[in-house]
Amino acid sequence: MNPYWLEDAKLPRAAPKHDGRVDVAIVGAGITGCSAALRLAERGLSVRVHDQRGVAEGASGRNGGFALRGGASRYDIARETYGREQATELWHWTERALDRMSELSRDSLRRTGSLRLAADAEEREEIRIEFEAMREDGIDAEWIDAPLEGRFHGAILHAEDGALQPARFVRRLAARAADAGAEIREHDRVDDVTALDAEQVVVATDGYGHGLVAELADLVWPTRGQVIVSAPLDEVLYDKPHYARQGFDYWQQLPDRRLLLGGFRDVSIMDELTDVEETTPTIQASLERFMGELIGAEPTITHRWAGIFGLTQDMLPLVGRVPGRANVWAAGGYSGHGNVLGFACGELVADAILGDMSSPQLRLFDPARFF
Ligand SMILES: Cc1cc2nc3c(=O)[nH]c(=O)nc-3n(C[C@H](O)[C@H](O)[C@H](O)COP(=O)(O)OP(=O)(O)OC[C@H]3O[C@@H](n4cnc5c(N)ncnc54)[C@H](O)[C@@H]3O)c2cc1C
Repeated sequence: MNPYWLEDAKLPRAAPKHDGRVDVAIVGAGITGCSAALRLAERGLSVRVHDQRGVAEGASGRNGGFALRGGASRYDIARETYGREQATELWHWTERALDRMSELSRDSLRRTGSLRLAADAEEREEIRIEFEAMREDGIDAEWIDAPLEGRFHGAILHAEDGALQPARFVRRLAARAADAGAEIREHDRVDDVTALDAEQVVVATDGYGHGLVAELADLVWPTRGQVIVSAPLDEVLYDKPHYARQGFDYWQQLPDRRLLLGGFRDVSIMDELTDVEETTPTIQASLERFMGELIGAEPTITHRWAGIFGLTQDMLPLVGRVPGRANVWAAGGYSGHGNVLGFACGELVADAILGDMSSPQLRLFDPARFF
């Protein structure tokens, strides 16, 4: 297993240290934990981040690199489930988060747009409904009738979405957080959040760390995703992230012309409800077959890996205080859609700790909805 993104050279980072008790301890140095650390340290709080691995070595360095606005559900379903106002607000909130990511990203985020494809006539109907709902509610989207020379049955172009080098982005966030005074302790596993020497604790472990907070164990289910990357192709076939079949399949061509492809979780969906970070022959074979179709030739695979993300029952994250615990906060459960949401929710939980509870997202994502 060799996640392509993690081969990127690590950035130099300051190494501030705090003696004794800190204002906030964060468990998890992925996009959520680093985003929260940056926000809190910039506001003058003392912060210590603990990760059992290195920065970005969880899902944040193992994902598809899609930087998409919105939630994990289709827009029309989100609107139906929690109302127009909440749904539009959520979409616009993530659009603003993407813009802030662009400002921080330097060369780790390209605003290429993304293409949400329909694999068959039925899916075309579904995404057409989504597209109409977005247009009705003033959310920018473009309809493409016969994308990729008619190989797919329609698509929504989200022009402002992006392609992220997620490990590079998160390492940059970590470096910024360290510059602002956050201590980052890598290879430092936390087994008991009550033993941390901190006034407040943020659990930012998404699909990893299952059971660390017992109350959340049944609410965020560890789920495995698998990815392959090819050797560089001769030409650029895909100029932006593409995804089809309800997002089960996703691919993008990287700046060095390699093709990254992930998905096919539905081939053995129950087996993939696991936190075992291993690739499997069944899904790898499906990925290879489909990559062959996408490039019109037998692919040469150079990288394969698995990663774990946290799935929730309603596909919405959990962000807020853990009910019944005075000083433990959670931010995670992005249901496979955590690049932009994770960044935004890291800031959101930090703002809540700083006393700003005004965001409507805090009500929507409140872990108390499951208690
Ligand atoms: C294969 C795959 C493809 C994906 N593709 C996309 C995509 O294209 N676009 C998108 O938006 N989202 C995607 N996602 C989801 C996205 O990667 C995650 O939602 C996001 O990275 C979560 O970030 P995080 O910081 O919350 O968690 P993570 O990045 O998973 O970080 C959690 C950290 O917690 C640490 N940790 C856990 N337990 C402990 C402990 N006890 N003590 C100390 N440290 C601990 C882990 O080591 C880990 O580093 C994908 C996920 C996977 C797995």
